[in-house]
Amino acid sequence: MGTRLMLSSQTPPLKPHQPLHSNSPSFPLTKIHYTPSRKLIRGKRVHSTSRYGNFLDLKPEHQPEALDFDLPWCHPSDRARFDVIIIGAGPAGVRLAEQVSLYGVKVCCVDPDPLSVWPNNYGVWVDEFENLGLEDCLDKTWPMACVYVDDNKTKYLDRCYGRVSRRKLKERLIEGCVSNGVRFHKAKAWEVKHQEFESSVLCDDGVELKGSLVIDASGFGSRFIEYDKVRNQGYQIAHGVLVEVEEHPFDLDKMVLMDWRDSHLGNEPSLRVSNSRFPTFLYAMPFSSNLIFLEETSLVSRPALSYMEVKRRMVARLRHLGIRVKRVLEDEKCLIPMGGPLPRIPQNVMAIGGTSGVVHPSTGYMVARTMAVAPVVAFAIAECLGSTRMIRGKQLYAKVWNSMWPIEKRMVREFYSFGMETLLKLDLNGSRNFFNAFFDLKPYYWQGFLSSKLTLKELVWLSLSLFGHASNPSKFDITTKCPVPLAKMMGNIALEYKA
Ligand SMILES: Cc1cc2nc3c(=O)[nH]c(=O)nc-3n(C[C@H](O)[C@H](O)[C@H](O)COP(=O)(O)OP(=O)(O)OC[C@H]3O[C@@H](n4cnc5c(N)ncnc54)[C@H](O)[C@@H]3O)c2cc1C
Repeated sequence: MGTRLMLSSQTPPLKPHQPLHSNSPSFPLTKIHYTPSRKLIRGKRVHSTSRYGNFLDLKPEHQPEALDFDLPWCHPSDRARFDVIIIGAGPAGVRLAEQVSLYGVKVCCVDPDPLSVWPNNYGVWVDEFENLGLEDCLDKTWPMACVYVDDNKTKYLDRCYGRVSRRKLKERLIEGCVSNGVRFHKAKAWEVKHQEFESSVLCDDGVELKGSLVIDASGFGSRFIEYDKVRNQGYQIAHGVLVEVEEHPFDLDKMVLMDWRDSHLGNEPSLRVSNSRFPTFLYAMPFSSNLIFLEETSLVSRPALSYMEVKRRMVARLRHLGIRVKRVLEDEKCLIPMGGPLPRIPQNVMAIGGTSGVVHPSTGYMVARTMAVAPVVAFAIAECLGSTRMIRGKQLYAKVWNSMWPIEKRMVREFYSFGMETLLKLDLNGSRNFFNAFFDLKPYYWQGFLSSKLTLKELVWLSLSLFGHASNPSKFDITTKCPVPLAKMMGNIALEYKA
């Protein structure tokens, strides 16, 4: 697939190779320190001074944006009763609203700002969006990805990667909602109450919405979903910036999935020591020679690695790579809870998205999976609340929860959580060895793993081949560090099976 460049309107219109200094808007040059000292490493120019500027001093220019839509709002007369009330208009909430309303189910979506363009930069594998017919909602694609295992080894992954156009995806889903008759209510859901066959959502503006099913799509900070096990999740923490730079060393036809190199910490002994134990990598989406999204990422840690530490490592890395930031167009703090137990299944409130446990326990990805699972959940809801409207209350909750988490999927998730527990135990060298072996697997396996598509049997096979491909130090790591998580996983699978 060829590379396209159509950035969302949030991004100032920069053209590849455009001489930015000539006509770009002014930026706070006084905050940037220059150095003439440069050397060449493996063909790329890098800077060797510690006075190369700190991009953290630059103020992000991004302002929140809104879609220009005439939304059908929820009128007082509608408030009597809906089939489904969805709390949250993030990717999960709007996708489910669009899908379930296709069946003529009466839906209301509540969000304090239903028209705002989502703030996060979402990346997906292009085939995942193609399979869902959503490929026109990507604003940039790269024909390949690459992984820098260390200074001497780079792996090239023959799989297209894309950045989601937050605007296009939301527009497309909202358009569907509007044409299927979804109503919106601009408020924050405050409390959910249940009767035998009906639930009500009390909003912070005093409005009470009533429906047969309440679905929580309010993201990771949800207050409406209950757990019956200790929540021992790990956390992905990352600092991401979309920046205008003078130049960067990355190829424009490859996104950088992971850069595990640590040579930038040569002059930072304390950062180097902590990075060796709790490593972070760089994730990069180069849009042009002077526009790039960069994210320093701790794949998973428990407790979460300090955000300040992540940022300090990123400053050192960019300085070493010779990336001089001229403007910060957007920044994002990424904190994603990963793994841990699923919500109690079933319960009166249904969940989708960040609240539902669908985030990939080993990678933190979720958008493509949520887009794919929403039609399945929508179908189950329609079977209960569609034209016959016979199934409500406990039967409805059980059917809908089981559509998202059938027993096989729960077991598979246990396996992915085992993957996360393993990653938690790996230091920098362990992580390098692990991903070196992982990306040597047949594409069917590593791609299937990253896209949550493998069956339990395939995951067992993947683990065995991973062990077979692993270097001796990796084998040692796996055999010494994995037995406890493995035993926990087996125990949890046995419990799921019994239930
Ligand atoms: C910075 C960042 C980057 C990420 N990048 C990726 C990525 O590249 N690829 C990927 O697959 N995943 C990524 N993720 C993970 C995940 O896909 C996102 O968190 C995604 O936004 C989750 O979607 P959601 O709809 O579940 O929740 P959210 O996007 O958090 O949306 C929740 C919505 O609910 C609303 N809301 C909250 N509380 C209430 C309430 N009480 N009443 C009414 N409305 C409420 C909020 O205003 C918001 O609109 C990223 C996460 C973060 C934080």
